[in-house]
Amino acid sequence: MTPETAYTRPRDLAEALAVRAAQPSWMVLAGGTDLMVSAIHKRVPAGILDLWRLPGVGAITEGAGGGLVIGAGATWLEIGRDARVAKAWSPLALAAREIGALQIQARGTLGGNIGTSSPVGDSLPALLALDAEIEVASVRGRRRVPYAAWCTGYRTTALAADELIVAAHLPPLAAGTHLAWRKVGTRRAQSISKVMGAAAMRVECGVVTDARIALGAVADRPIRIAAVEQAVRGLARAAAAEAARAAMRGAIRPIDDVRSSASYRDLVAENLVARFFSGMI
Ligand SMILES: Cc1cc2nc3c(=O)[nH]c(=O)nc-3n(C[C@H](O)[C@H](O)[C@H](O)COP(=O)(O)OP(=O)(O)OC[C@H]3O[C@@H](n4cnc5c(N)ncnc54)[C@H](O)[C@@H]3O)c2cc1C
Repeated sequence: MTPETAYTRPRDLAEALAVRAAQPSWMVLAGGTDLMVSAIHKRVPAGILDLWRLPGVGAITEGAGGGLVIGAGATWLEIGRDARVAKAWSPLALAAREIGALQIQARGTLGGNIGTSSPVGDSLPALLALDAEIEVASVRGRRRVPYAAWCTGYRTTALAADELIVAAHLPPLAAGTHLAWRKVGTRRAQSISKVMGAAAMRVECGVVTDARIALGAVADRPIRIAAVEQAVRGLARAAAAEAARAAMRGAIRPIDDVRSSASYRDLVAENLVARFFSGMI
């Protein structure tokens, strides 16, 4: 006998939060591009809370002090086409344009990528390098979690059972911040990342004064590479590239899976980070 599955598509966030509080075990569905792939291997959920196109959580709006707020329900197509994201937070726009193909970009959402929290989720290193904060809501209220504290392990996050992801907040970046993004896959389009990374580097008078370097697929979650960030401070870009390369050695323990060996990921990650500083990416 097929179990009955309840289904609800709330009209607004308040209604969605009430259902989430009452039924924390229900599947939270956004675009479904992650959930549908694995649905056949999982138990039929008792209920589905469908957030697709939920009013109030899909917009991209200007935030306080020149920042940007991207609603959890915004799709990759919308994010990739947003001129503000492309201009000031380019790693996220570039990641958006490389997620799956057009069909996936039209349906997959930022909230879904953050919710799945896969080590190969393409937006995640960009959120780390851009120092994003994740806003979540429940009937208890709202809170913001720095993305650096969001991932708690392999595909686990700081989201509580009664909470929903509402938005990602991108702070404005200081003048002189150079941004970079690179995804390395089997081919240039439609591939799952072997390694991907994002960088936000502050360069003043040719010298690196600050850097946030984030990589994906090199650990159980996206990570900042503190050893590199410390090694490059105070160096001219060419010297920083060499220092970054040296600091990468032993700094990561990449995952080893069907897509790539750990040693390949190690080498690619080292080249990628060095090229962020040499300006080749
Ligand atoms: C063919 C194919 C290619 C793909 N290529 C890529 C790729 O290149 N790069 C990449 O990173 N990903 C890729 N993906 C994965 C997927 O498209 C992305 O992770 C996408 O962003 C998921 O968004 P979604 O809205 O479809 O999430 P869903 O599948 O609806 O949900 C995913 C998870 O997030 C949770 N969730 C969603 N929204 C919320 C919310 N507001 N609050 C709380 N929890 C929430 C859900 O409960 C679920 O656990 C691909 C998938 C497919 C099928």
